[in-house]
Amino acid sequence: MLAELAAAAALICLDPGHGTAPEIGRELEPIGPGSKRLKIKDPGGAAGEEPVALAIARRTRALLLARGYRVAMTRDRTAYRGGNRERARFCNASGAALMIRIHADGSSDSSVHGVSTLVPALRRGWTDDIHGASRRAGELLQRELVNATGARDLGVVERGDLTGFNWADVPAVLVETGFMSNPREARLLRSDAYQRKVAGALARAAHRFLIR
Ligand SMILES: [Zn+2]
Repeated sequence: MLAELAAAAALICLDPGHGTAPEIGRELEPIGPGSKRLKIKDPGGAAGEEPVALAIARRTRALLLARGYRVAMTRDRTAYRGGNRERARFCNASGAALMIRIHADGSSDSSVHGVSTLVPALRRGWTDDIHGASRRAGELLQRELVNATGARDLGVVERGDLTGFNWADVPAVLVETGFMSNPREARLLRSDAYQRKVAGALARAAHRFLIR
């Protein structure tokens, strides 16, 4: 019960991907603290991804608030003014117990489908403080996502090249909730019923991560 109460006070930071103002999205930023490697702030994402990510984030926020959690969102509309470094810094500054980045995938092969969860690769000085917890959160999220949607399980994937992970000081995961390039999955991702399933999975996984 004490663990439940402590978890209930926790803040979860939701980061719906993309939606950056184009003139900002083209700017460059270092992929991690002190790095000379630069990446653009927002390549724009898969076709149709931005509103789907935002809709799922809003539904997830409602479910988390109903469970008694506090929620911060990096953006709640389009024309976001930051990059991925800013998204991470926002979640760091909010004192989040978990950062959930919400995306949908795209492929040149329209037959590719399924859900995956990305987690930070281990890199000393960048992610060593969040690697283990992020991995644990990622495994929980992926399992809940697959169970809730019945989508193909593409697994948990470690990534060292994502700016939004390398600047994070709080456990961080990125869910690829399906492929916008797959007609069937894109149709599902735009539907209320499927968005509710995904949001339910994210809220349940966050709760399971926090009560331990
Ligand atoms: Zn994306």
